[in-house]
Amino acid sequence: MTKINKQIIENIMTDYNRKRLRAAHDADVRKEKLYAGFPELEETERQIKLLSIKLSKLFLTSPDNLDEQAAGLKKEVENLKKLRKEIYLNNGIPEHYTEPVYQCKKCSDTGYISDGSRCGCFNSQLINNLYTMSNMVHMLKKENFGTFDINIFSNDSYENEKLTPRQNMYKILDVSEEFCYNFHDSNISMLFYGGTGLGKTFLCNCIAKALIDREISVLYQTAFSLFEIIENHKFNAQNETEENKINYSMIFDCDLLIIDDLGTELTNSFTNSELFNIINGRLITGKNTIISTNMSIERLVQTYSDRIMSRVLNNFLLLKFYGKDLRWEVK
Ligand SMILES: [Zn+2]
Repeated sequence: MTKINKQIIENIMTDYNRKRLRAAHDADVRKEKLYAGFPELEETERQIKLLSIKLSKLFLTSPDNLDEQAAGLKKEVENLKKLRKEIYLNNGIPEHYTEPVYQCKKCSDTGYISDGSRCGCFNSQLINNLYTMSNMVHMLKKENFGTFDINIFSNDSYENEKLTPRQNMYKILDVSEEFCYNFHDSNISMLFYGGTGLGKTFLCNCIAKALIDREISVLYQTAFSLFEIIENHKFNAQNETEENKINYSMIFDCDLLIIDDLGTELTNSFTNSELFNIINGRLITGKNTIISTNMSIERLVQTYSDRIMSRVLNNFLLLKFYGKDLRWEVK
């Protein structure tokens, strides 16, 4: 994880370098064209440069009449600058025509603003990369609606269930695709529950991929790492990494939060109250959440506080996964 994140930051910085080089190159091209049309401008520019060099040399040698000489040179530079301005004005050349044009005016495509903090454009790239892609990028290539194979689910009746596992999965798939399709218009949170190896995580990946492709921000974390992020934020604030800070805020701010494998974390009063805050907070702000768990509803009720379970049972769409563990059947 850490290694991948370092790579992502490097990629973003490389991207900034490329943008700046490009801007500088484009500016050079404009300058060349401009000078071809107005040779007097190039000459003026050259003179200004020469005088500036003379001036700095003057200060280095500091002769007796330094002030006098310096004033003379400065006057010359001023006159040349006036001349340059006139050429620009008389020919309708835009004032900053030969300067690089950056995509982000705030940070000039460096990623950092003058007080040394990260520019907003850096953060949004970081979020896009780090929190929607990094921990899933490989999974998402393999696991998406396009690669979902319904036929691996048995069509024989299963225990006391009305639908066969395959019919059940058709229903779940339908709901999930609908969920993605109408993401912005519908306020739906879902609980995927049932035994291991029944495609819950696969489906979470499908949903994440479908939404990320539409530039919807998705934070995907296992319950275990989710609580790790919260603990780092609350109990280790002094050493908290930038990455953890963004991750933490994303728990509440992202469009979709997917908590995978709920029940694999250590549960105590701290995790219970944090989990409640997340679920409740997101319900109040109208943000969707998907929770997947291997636990049955009965186990969940025994494990988590009443107020968590009342939020989940009353506000989440409950989707039960059942059938034989597929991990032993495929391949
Ligand atoms: Zn910027």
